Amino acid sequence: ITNLPAFGFETTLADEVHGVTVPWQGAPAPDPRVLILNDGLARSLALDPASLRTPEGAGVLSGSIPPAETATVAMAYAGHQFGNFVPLLGDGRALLLGELRDDQGNRVDLHLKGSGATPFSRGGDGRAVVGAMLREYLISEAMHALKIPTTRSLAVVTTGEQILREGGPQPGAVLARVASSHLRVGTFEFAARREGLAQSLADYAIARHYPEFVDLPAEDRYLAFFEAVVEAQASLVAQWMSIGFVHGVMNTDNTTISGETIDYGPCAFLDAYDPATVFSSIDHGGRYAYGNQPAVLGWNLARFGETLLPLVNSKPDTAITALTAVLDTYGDRYRQHYSAAVARKLGLADDGVDAALVDDLHRLLTEHRADWTLTFRALADNLRGHSSPFDSHVPPDASANWLERWRTAVSVRGQDLSSVADGMDRVNPAYIPRNHLVDTALNAATEGDLDAFERLLEVVTSPFDRRDDRSDYALPAPENFSAGFKTFCG
Ligand code: AMP
Ligand code: MG
Ligand code: MG
Repeated sequence: ITNLPAFGFETTLADEVHGVTVPWQGAPAPDPRVLILNDGLARSLALDPASLRTPEGAGVLSGSIPPAETATVAMAYAGHQFGNFVPLLGDGRALLLGELRDDQGNRVDLHLKGSGATPFSRGGDGRAVVGAMLREYLISEAMHALKIPTTRSLAVVTTGEQILREGGPQPGAVLARVASSHLRVGTFEFAARREGLAQSLADYAIARHYPEFVDLPAEDRYLAFFEAVVEAQASLVAQWMSIGFVHGVMNTDNTTISGETIDYGPCAFLDAYDPATVFSSIDHGGRYAYGNQPAVLGWNLARFGETLLPLVNSKPDTAITALTAVLDTYGDRYRQHYSAAVARKLGLADDGVDAALVDDLHRLLTEHRADWTLTFRALADNLRGHSSPFDSHVPPDASANWLERWRTAVSVRGQDLSSVADGMDRVNPAYIPRNHLVDTALNAATEGDLDAFERLLEVVTSPFDRRDDRSDYALPAPENFSAGFKTFCG
């Protein structure tokens, strides 16, 4: 094949860390076609969008044509799934095509999902369906536009195959995604059980993600690394909470070392504010409920810390004491990030906010099933002196006292109220990927009509600009939709 796009892949993970990858190739696909391509992201990786749209480009992005001059791999990892340790998970339907540089010079992975069975498939078919891959594309790009660290989506390519799933055959597809790496807590859980591997993996991860620690002496290096991951993840989950994002499968293999959101499966956004919200059809116990996410992250970070014990100190007691001291900072870090985020949402800049004011807001919203997203846009409109838009979310007799306290907190800062309101609108989205809209768009796309998907993608990737012609997209789900809404792993 002569028209292969030039990627210029590097393979530093496979070259430098022996034992976390196996050479592997994607499965053949009868008719790979680019369904959607992220031109801007392609260009930022010095890839030519036109060449990615050719049959050869679609072949590479589906995994069915091996890219020239590089060895593609599947990655091994372990992980705790719903609290249970599974010693071998790994890329069961994914392939690491290689590493590229982004326009900042940072190393990123180009990775395929749905590209066929691998040695890690554990009886799975190695495939993915178009609805689920477009879902990840849409939500990851929405998260990026919401300024939340995340993997990005480069393309969805249909394979021309029909994939058997519960409920009947569906079109097969492959997602091409870009991540600052695919190293997970689960990768460390895998490495920690193999002689010498944890150290080489940790040194690689430090050089790639936290290079400021490379030259530290060993007794400080791994502890600093742990602290940096605790900090990055505390910040990430605080941002999820502030935007109303429910990941849905916070297993340790879905917790990154980089601090990026990864693996958009049964994730969804809150409509009504309720900490007990669970969308995933497989999360029966509510382990990964919206309000549990900060605690679950703490648990995942403890599992991560355990993998670093022998690196931090050869004396187990000393290592445990040192790692525990860092882990103990997690709660405060999380609360600080969340409090700062809510302060910005309420027009109180980064000054922080009276905890009781936030607790009381949470209580009001829960009690009145108020929409988490629309609430903050309504509060900004209240400041602008419009006829009290917040009243449609929480009745005035219930909210009067809280509103008074909040307006006082805003006023004492002495800023012009309309510029405070504008600042709030820059951090509080008008548009999120609402479940009923996502559902409708993906159903149509599965039937071959991409119009609704493309319109929704455009809206959720400019989430802060309210436009009159898009007002439908800001409406909460119809009453009868939200009650039993469930998400599935695709
Ligand atoms: P996830 O819940 O998407 O993070 O995936 C958990 C594990 O299941 C990972 O090891 C995946 O590679 C694997 N997996 C998910 N779906 C499939 C599939 N259709 N075929 C093979 N492996 C899969
Ligand atoms: Mg995963
Ligand atoms: Mg997955």
